[in-house]
Amino acid sequence: MPHQLLLYIIALIAGASVSSFLGIYAFIKIRHAPGGKYFCAAAFLAAFFALTYAFELTSDTLEKILFWVAVEYLAIAFLPAVTLLMCADYAARKPRKWMYAVLFGIPVITVMLNWTNSYHHFYYTSVGLGRNMGHPVARLEGGPWFWVQTVFLYFCVLAGAWILLSQLKRVSSRFHIQILMMGIGILIPVAGTLFYLSGLSGGLDFGPVFMCASFLFHGAALLRFRMFDVVPVARETIFESLEEGVLVLDQREMIVDYNRAMKPLLPFLTDDAIGRPLKEILGFDKQLADILQSGQEGDYKLIQGSRKLHFHIRFASLLNKKKEPVGKIVMFINITERVQMEEQLQKLARTDGLTGLLNRTFFLEQAEAACFGIKEKGDSVSLIMFDIDHFKQVNDTFGHEAGDLVLMKVAETARKSMRSQDLLARYGGEEFIIFLPHTSLADANERAEALRTAIAEATVYVEDKALNVTSSFGISQVWIEAGSIESPVQMLMREADQALYAAKRNGRNCVQTLS
Ligand code: GH3
Ligand code: MG
Ligand code: MG
Repeated sequence: MPHQLLLYIIALIAGASVSSFLGIYAFIKIRHAPGGKYFCAAAFLAAFFALTYAFELTSDTLEKILFWVAVEYLAIAFLPAVTLLMCADYAARKPRKWMYAVLFGIPVITVMLNWTNSYHHFYYTSVGLGRNMGHPVARLEGGPWFWVQTVFLYFCVLAGAWILLSQLKRVSSRFHIQILMMGIGILIPVAGTLFYLSGLSGGLDFGPVFMCASFLFHGAALLRFRMFDVVPVARETIFESLEEGVLVLDQREMIVDYNRAMKPLLPFLTDDAIGRPLKEILGFDKQLADILQSGQEGDYKLIQGSRKLHFHIRFASLLNKKKEPVGKIVMFINITERVQMEEQLQKLARTDGLTGLLNRTFFLEQAEAACFGIKEKGDSVSLIMFDIDHFKQVNDTFGHEAGDLVLMKVAETARKSMRSQDLLARYGGEEFIIFLPHTSLADANERAEALRTAIAEATVYVEDKALNVTSSFGISQVWIEAGSIESPVQMLMREADQALYAAKRNGRNCVQTLS
């Protein structure tokens, strides 16, 4: 065996050993890190390639050489795809399903065509034996699919390199060296393949040796920088997968970065928003602009079509090593569920469960507040109390559920006659109360009469039986003097109650005022 060839074979075996070692090391240490499992696979495939290539070189007949070439292809065909997936995974890019199909489909076809080449010559158009340094080597002319595989190789390597390079601008500069080493690592085998394809290597494929050399770069990055362990991309992955929207600003309030969760919140955040002043971008949203400019924690309501979203916005300062501020992180914590729950609870706390009308406590609060407003200028205020007549009989005759239906019907009828400033509440069992601001006694009387008629005419059907009820009404009215201090609500209620009592005594289904 020529001296040179022997050296080359030793280089191949050394390369295979280094690659295997890296593969095993990676399998133990970093197979779960981003890119880790593909790194293991690529290292083992490269080792396999280098070793089988050494066997090819020691073969002395064309038949043996072709056998080893066929075995090599188990590695050669799949290495580009695995390398690309390693870069993509490292950069936290998730390929689509069909991409996996393409990335593994092409190598499978390559292997099959390579193995069956003697039947169709689709992979090599000619296969012959040549000599290099006095030793037999295969002279193989590439056919159509050989070029498909070659283009595939360059595509994968360049795409991988591009993914890594595009990562450079996204991550902090202290991680750049690792990414660059990784990039150099994947570009080295391309140089080897170009050397082989140029014919300058005299038929010796330096690819495997170059490839093993490339794993030295990966390995150096791996061992020295623990690349996959503390990968910038791991941070990136965490950043991207956060449920909270995160916006990173520098000292001058320029947008430095933002994560995926931020996009649906602020649709104007496009790639070219990075590097632009936040102010410029927030122009249209004053509420948000105010919170962000103040730097104070706050709640933010975002209306997207029919959806109302609530966020709690928090700030954190970014300090450099010397503890000087260099920017800030703005976090958008989605509190929509909590706010909705609180709103629901508040609603429950102020309404009556059966009728949906205000409850007594909330009614009193609101009526007091309304009077407080009227005290500024002074005006007339009226109050109506009404009670369903002989309601006990309804329950006794038709059952409690029918009674409930009647209560709902009466409530609905009353609600329909309300103006926006009126307050209607269920005061007790079958007793209701209406606060009428800016209303004279005559108007209140008219309103009560109209409601009395409406209730008497409203029919509830219980198992095909029509049910009608009447109500008795008591009205009170007071003129609130401008600047008065007293609250008239209690007095209004007392008088309306007495008037209602009078209405009951006067035969029910009527409206009474204290005279
Ligand atoms: P009056 O004309 O004097 O007002 O007679 P009434 O029968 O309406 O008055 P009473 O105070 O004797 O009876 C009120 C009834 O209302 C008794 C109570 O069981 C019933 N009631 C109170 N709350 C509810 C309720 O939420 N649902 C039902 N179905 N009945 C209720
Ligand atoms: Mg009653
Ligand atoms: Mg009653």
